[in-house]
Amino acid sequence: MNFCSACGKPVAQKIPPGDNLPRFVCGSCDAIHYHNPKIVAGCIPEWENQILLCRRAIEPKSGLWTFPAGFMEIGESTEQAAMRETVEEAKAEVVLTRLHSVFSLPQIGQVYMVFVGKMQSKRFGAGAESLEVRLFHPSEIPWEEIAFPVVKEALRRYIDDMAKGGLSLHVASLPDRLNKTGTTGSILHNRSDG
Ligand SMILES: [Zn+2]
Repeated sequence: MNFCSACGKPVAQKIPPGDNLPRFVCGSCDAIHYHNPKIVAGCIPEWENQILLCRRAIEPKSGLWTFPAGFMEIGESTEQAAMRETVEEAKAEVVLTRLHSVFSLPQIGQVYMVFVGKMQSKRFGAGAESLEVRLFHPSEIPWEEIAFPVVKEALRRYIDDMAKGGLSLHVASLPDRLNKTGTTGSILHNRSDG
């Protein structure tokens, strides 16, 4: 950032007294502006033996598939955010049944919290940010057209769990969401899931 959001004067990066990392500090009003990770809440909506995916209508990764996910808003819980995104992007009502995965993306300062949700009916449709929404059997998932490695990793673990007959909680770090190959599984799978 260049200017203080409190008073509009220039900011400079420095380590405030008692801190150990550089922060944006206002030279005029002394406000300290912290940049902390953002939480993305997502939902894998289930209907019978299928899951609901959305084809993105917006950049980045327009045209590729994802489950509903987005940044939390102030004033809502992670569960509410996951359900809201499912309504907005896929026009589907879900009841969340469990937390499936927590992925840290340290390089870009994001944390994904991915829930599993039971669709309350077979009603769904493309929200403003989706070109198309449809149900997929596990064997039909378009692995080569998934929008983000973190989404692919969450889906892969979900599908693996289902094949084994039960979901477990996955906690892992994703080294680089912008990985060119899009295959981060080998790194992730070496980590402990607990
Ligand atoms: Zn200021």
